[in-house]
Amino acid sequence: MFHQPSHIHFALPEWLESYSGTYKPSSSLEERMKFVIGASRKNVEEGSGGPFAAAVFESGTGELVSLGVNLVFTQTSSILHAEMVAIALAQMKLGAYDLGGSGMAVHELVTSAEPCAMCFGAILWSGVRHLAYSAFSEDAAAIGFDEGPKPENWIEELESRGIHVTSGVEREAACEVLQLYARTGGHIYNSRKG
Ligand SMILES: [Zn+2]
Repeated sequence: MFHQPSHIHFALPEWLESYSGTYKPSSSLEERMKFVIGASRKNVEEGSGGPFAAAVFESGTGELVSLGVNLVFTQTSSILHAEMVAIALAQMKLGAYDLGGSGMAVHELVTSAEPCAMCFGAILWSGVRHLAYSAFSEDAAAIGFDEGPKPENWIEELESRGIHVTSGVEREAACEVLQLYARTGGHIYNSRKG
């Protein structure tokens, strides 16, 4: 008889809730990014996933809506990139598959690294109106991660759909976390390059 799980269930690391409590709503994108990069560092230090974090904020108020971290190998799913986790949590919390639906606050996704091919697609359908990322793909590639075949003009594609993009916010701090991960023997998963 055919059998598969009846629910899709992913557990977040236990430290994540108390870490989220340290966030003070800020109108500064740099401050929001520092908070997200701090979560990526914590994810490495706690061994709860890859060196990436992402969060959804209300753009206007800087309120935190959701915080996600990379859970690929700890929750055994290739789709659990930090951006996917943050978007899914925000949509669950707000009960909306479209974070840009009518009557909703304007939402933004702040992520510690440039989105990969999968997350690029997910961002298109998520309803966020702003994407801010820190480390560039080449920074993640430098320690062995493969960001996949994204269109070269991916930023224009997002902008043309009303999603503003800000690149390289607090890049050095995010790169430090990537380096920490590499130095401490972090697992590089899913690369099909070479
Ligand atoms: Zn991704």
